[in-house]
Amino acid sequence: MSSVNSTARRILVFCASSGSCEPHFHEAAGILGRDIARAGHTVVYGGGAVGSMGAVADAALAEGGEVVGIIPRFMCELEWAHPGLTELRLVDDMQQRKRDMLATSDAIVTLPGGSGTFEELFEAITSKRLGLFPNPIVILNQGGFYDPLFQLLSGSVSARFMNEVHLEMWHAVDRVEEILPAIDAAAEWPDNAVEFATL
Ligand code: AMP
Repeated sequence: MSSVNSTARRILVFCASSGSCEPHFHEAAGILGRDIARAGHTVVYGGGAVGSMGAVADAALAEGGEVVGIIPRFMCELEWAHPGLTELRLVDDMQQRKRDMLATSDAIVTLPGGSGTFEELFEAITSKRLGLFPNPIVILNQGGFYDPLFQLLSGSVSARFMNEVHLEMWHAVDRVEEILPAIDAAAEWPDNAVEFATL
């Protein structure tokens, strides 16, 4: 995935801040950042300097790509913000950060991560279900990391908390190289999603 794409997208990446996880998680984040930049897209993310967050930003910047970070002021005061981004937006709190990140994106990628990554993914999925966010959501199921999550979501459909069609709100891929093609191939989400949001 190294050709320049005529459709420049702002790709929002949710991923881990942890610097202590297995290095292959950071490596995948770096490959994603590199591929986003090479394809002429922009990385949008939470603005952190460490872990997979730092890896995706560093790799995109190293390729000459654009990286927009959106980070709450208190994290910036803690010196968690990446110092070398194309643009760093300071926001009041976590809620505004999530709102601004969704509003600044044409597609979402979720890599393995912790509670912060899960929260961001679920906000995006719930917004999509309610017809408030129509764009593709791609989840990297690296090494089966998200298998328990997919099991939980399928169970939610079986229990009739969600509709079968809601399983189409995201696309899972096993390899980082599959992420950008999956975004390009994602089916449009219907404008009237709110009409089938509830069962
Ligand atoms: P997690 O997957 O739990 O590591 O959460 C990643 C998300 O947690 C980020 O998008 C932020 O909301 C927040 N976060 C936690 N630690 C940091 C950090 N050091 N720098 C920036 N954001 C962080």
